[in-house]
Amino acid sequence: PFDVLIVGGGPAGAAAAVYAARKGIRVGVAAERFGGQVNDTLAIENYISVLETDGPKFAAALEAQVRHYGVDIMNLQRAEKLVPASEPGGPVQVVMANGATLKARSVILSTGARWRNVNVPGEAEYRNKGVAYCPHCDGPLFKGKRVAVIGGGNSGVEAAIDLAGIVEHVTLIEFADALKADAVLVTKLKSLPNVAIHTNAQTTEITGANGTVNGLSYKDRASGEQHHVELEGVFVQIGLVPNTEWLKGTVELSRFGEIVIDAKGHTNVDGVFAAGDCTTVPYKQIVIAAGAGSTAALSAFDYLIRQPLV
Ligand code: FAD
Repeated sequence: PFDVLIVGGGPAGAAAAVYAARKGIRVGVAAERFGGQVNDTLAIENYISVLETDGPKFAAALEAQVRHYGVDIMNLQRAEKLVPASEPGGPVQVVMANGATLKARSVILSTGARWRNVNVPGEAEYRNKGVAYCPHCDGPLFKGKRVAVIGGGNSGVEAAIDLAGIVEHVTLIEFADALKADAVLVTKLKSLPNVAIHTNAQTTEITGANGTVNGLSYKDRASGEQHHVELEGVFVQIGLVPNTEWLKGTVELSRFGEIVIDAKGHTNVDGVFAAGDCTTVPYKQIVIAAGAGSTAALSAFDYLIRQPLV
């Protein structure tokens, strides 16, 4: 069996693999798609010490570093079930979609998350060409331009406030008849001079020309009227979904489906740790996921050295 088996090969899983492998123990990474969300990222400008890189380059560098330490990478492998140890310190099992069962003395879960899509025409076509999901990542690319934020929950309203300080104008589009964000955020948003808010508004299309976004169409759900706003960017903020469906009933999850961890990356299951966007860690970013992966690996190692010799 592996000493540490990591499920998920994004920044969190890769960092966990490097930290664990440097302890001289047997480490494996099983990932549906090594690199994770970074593969879908165009420019990365906020990974500390790296002025600018792009997603595929960053993902290739993650893989090269993990391979350098002799880690067993099982790419294109999806985990479907986690079986906790039947006795304290016993092996944890991970059942894969291909039918194989991997055994490990400890497991780190780092399956990441995915942004919920609005699923309107133009969203997929203009992804990374004006359609964005992360204001911390892509906000500065729209400096001096006009953008929309879809979603009036806390993340949408926070994004709109954040973006209003960078871009020329923000249009916030909320499907329901009122913003669902905390009152203090809504008050702040309404005080900003360069923000327009449309509630009861259903986004129907993200329009574009010459390969980039040039507007957003929405329907006023009260009057049925169609409207079109000219702008250069659209931030979709209707939720980040953790890839944890397969862990329901085995590992404690928050009401958002995030794996509940403590400051050291422990889950509620003995010998099982977690890191990155799939967890309750605040703020979902590459540098944070990498830090959390390192934490989980060091915790797993602490756990292993406390086990009786077998
Ligand atoms: P992920 O990157 O999501 O990796 C999860 C891994 O788990 C993948 O290998 C996946 O295939 C695998 N996996 C999932 N389910 C299973 C399963 N059941 N079995 C096996 N493997 C599984 N952050 C920044 O800091 N800066 C940026 O500029 C930036 N830009 C972004 C742009 C876009 C378009 C997106 C989508 C995100 C961006 N982010 C950015 C966020 C950043 O990518 C994430 O915070 C980071 O990738 C999280 O790392 P992770 O390892 O926790 O998860």
